[in-house]
Amino acid sequence: MLEACLMNLSSLREMAEDFLQDVQEEIYQQVAGHKRKLDIGAVHARYPTLFSRDSLTFVLEQRAKAQGEERRRLDYLSRFLADGYLARGVSQLTDEIASREASAVVDWQGKTVPFRYLAVMLAQESDPARRKALALLRDKVLSQLNPLRAERFVRRCALVRELSYDSYPALMEDFGGPHSASLRALLEDLMAETDVAFTELLEEALLDIVGLSLDQTQTHDIPRLIRALPFDRYFPADKALNCLHNTLQQMGIHLAEQSNIILDIAPRDRKKPGAFALPVHIPDKIYFVVQPIGGQDDYQALLHEAGHAEHWAHISPAQPFEFKRLGDDAVTESFAFLFEHLTTNRQWLRCHLALDQSDVYLKFARLVRLYKIRRYAARFFYALEAYALADPTLLADRYLSLFGKILAVQSSPEMYLKDLDDQLYAVCYLRAWMFEPQLKTRLRDQAGEHWFQAREGGEILRQLWQWGQRYGVAELARQLGDDGLDSQALRTELLPD
Ligand SMILES: [Zn+2]
Repeated sequence: MLEACLMNLSSLREMAEDFLQDVQEEIYQQVAGHKRKLDIGAVHARYPTLFSRDSLTFVLEQRAKAQGEERRRLDYLSRFLADGYLARGVSQLTDEIASREASAVVDWQGKTVPFRYLAVMLAQESDPARRKALALLRDKVLSQLNPLRAERFVRRCALVRELSYDSYPALMEDFGGPHSASLRALLEDLMAETDVAFTELLEEALLDIVGLSLDQTQTHDIPRLIRALPFDRYFPADKALNCLHNTLQQMGIHLAEQSNIILDIAPRDRKKPGAFALPVHIPDKIYFVVQPIGGQDDYQALLHEAGHAEHWAHISPAQPFEFKRLGDDAVTESFAFLFEHLTTNRQWLRCHLALDQSDVYLKFARLVRLYKIRRYAARFFYALEAYALADPTLLADRYLSLFGKILAVQSSPEMYLKDLDDQLYAVCYLRAWMFEPQLKTRLRDQAGEHWFQAREGGEILRQLWQWGQRYGVAELARQLGDDGLDSQALRTELLPD
């Protein structure tokens, strides 16, 4: 009997690994421009039993009997299967929303424009009145999709209850995820402490870059602010790849010689601009798709994805499947942000982009970082409330007041369900943003202020990368000598004066 169970468990693990491999390969084919349409549904169809209730029940039974590292593996596997089970239960609605969004068009001054292109146009448009008109067109499409989104959320809440959990945050905690109430308390303190600095920086940047006062600004003006055209000249598209190679080389990492990272830099008509790292098979087949477009946000995305790629490429092949592929995604996000935030390091800017006078840019970068942290904190608080209420008709007012208070600008009421992060991925980003400065403190202690220009810095990272996501960020923080995850190091970076 026991042998049969073990066999089932190992074949389930193998199936889960194959499934993830196929999903990543499918995404690669689409983002790299080899294939027009993304068809994740077809991948799911090849694994009909993986996310069944039976698989989940079986793993939960094994988990109840397990201890130590096996228990940890089964926590991660259970969470993966539960997420898959929930996603499968709402997949028809998810697909319908996605296909209606993909096919929706609006009429813009006599021209037909795809709904999804409106986000790009909002960042490109310099005239506030025209941005407002674009946002109204976007909102009209969103309002038509909101009944479907509401139905999807109600269905998801019901599925969570079917699994005997009051809410999704409770399920996440039971499978080894973070404690929502403690994280919320930590973030509420951070919101209060950064409130004044954020509002001051935002007011100043809005006037300088977008030409609006805070009172005149709405959230549809923010993409234009974050695009930050005045800084594009420091971040040219044609230097981006060289800059990446040189950055890694200083840490003793030779990207061109890493045979397990497939660097796809070939131009293709349908290839998506920007950068994408895709772990098809960890650690021996990682795609890194790159098509630089220039600008500070493009450089950040390139380094962010490089952080993911290097993490996955350095995970020890001896790690079990769950530690290579599952576990705490805040870990891989921390390494991604560690590299991304090099673009806000004075010494790095001087060395790689010959930017000696970086004060104005660094101030702007600090605002963007504050904005993102506050926006994801708002998403997290809002998702917690949404799961507690479990009734979408009560959410629109809460959305407007919560986001308005934290972001200091008025959001669009029609966004109240699109902005609902029902899988709580914000939790990974928020914890990664806290852990990354803690990690950086250790790197500075051990490899010097300019750890990113020292082989020793690369060596410390290699040691950490090999574990995959066996340990969550709170455990890693303790291993590095802190009491656990805290916001002290982050606060010092956000409020340097
Ligand atoms: Zn990431």
